[in-house]
Amino acid sequence: MKVYVMVGAPGAGKGTQAAILAERLGLRHLASGDLFREAVRSGTPVGLEAKRYMDRGALVPDPVVIAMIDERLDRSDAAAGVILDGFPRTRPQAESLDAALARRGAQVDAALYVGVPEEELVRRLSGRWICRAAGHPYHDVSRPPRVPGICDIDGSELYQRDDDRPETVRARLAQQLEPMYDVIDHYTTQGVLVAVDGTQSIDDVTQALLRAIAHPARPVNRSEAA
Ligand code: ADP
Ligand code: AMP
Repeated sequence: MKVYVMVGAPGAGKGTQAAILAERLGLRHLASGDLFREAVRSGTPVGLEAKRYMDRGALVPDPVVIAMIDERLDRSDAAAGVILDGFPRTRPQAESLDAALARRGAQVDAALYVGVPEEELVRRLSGRWICRAAGHPYHDVSRPPRVPGICDIDGSELYQRDDDRPETVRARLAQQLEPMYDVIDHYTTQGVLVAVDGTQSIDDVTQALLRAIAHPARPVNRSEAA
């Protein structure tokens, strides 16, 4: 089972790239935010709990997130491999993911960090539109749909997320960047972090990620170095 993890601030382009890479590499794209939005729409207990945090731009508590992803990894459509988008977002989530994958004889093959400065994140989130059916992301300026208001891929209606309003965007950035750096640190220590410049065009970011996946920097093993 191949496992890639997208790491990046809200609005960095994780969902955009995860969808493209999943298609190219034949992997399942699993976005924790999409799973929570689906749970909120269906009014499940997880959805009701998650909504309290999402509305404030806060992170949903680790146990809730971890249980949801662990259950999702057991479904047959995840068997060939997954691109995780939006998870893990904290160090405990990253450690739980390692354990959950180890139980399945797998590990994180690469953590793909898409770096974008904060003022650009605000611009991206305020112009973002996503589709009702599957959360495919668009942008007023950088990635407009072919037909205004309609998803190119599945024809569903586009809408703007409540938490993409400027005040919630500021709250999300204030609360979610710090734990993201712990996740980066976790994967750097493991030697699986790949960082790409997320300010490039969508196509150039994809090319950089594909190159990084094809030629991972192999950490030097102590016995080889000696
Ligand atoms: P994330 O999943 O990290 O929150 P998204 O993939 O939803 O981010 O992207 C946020 C917004 O920025 C979307 O409106 C998307 O169309 C746009 N976007 C994504 N990648 C780029 C890019 N490389 N350049 C310009 N805009 C981008
Ligand atoms: P996203 O679509 O990834 O921007 O996620 C939307 C919201 O869902 C976030 O602002 C959090 O409230 C919640 N969420 C998504 N993924 C996680 C996660 N891994 N840990 C905690 N909260 C999450």
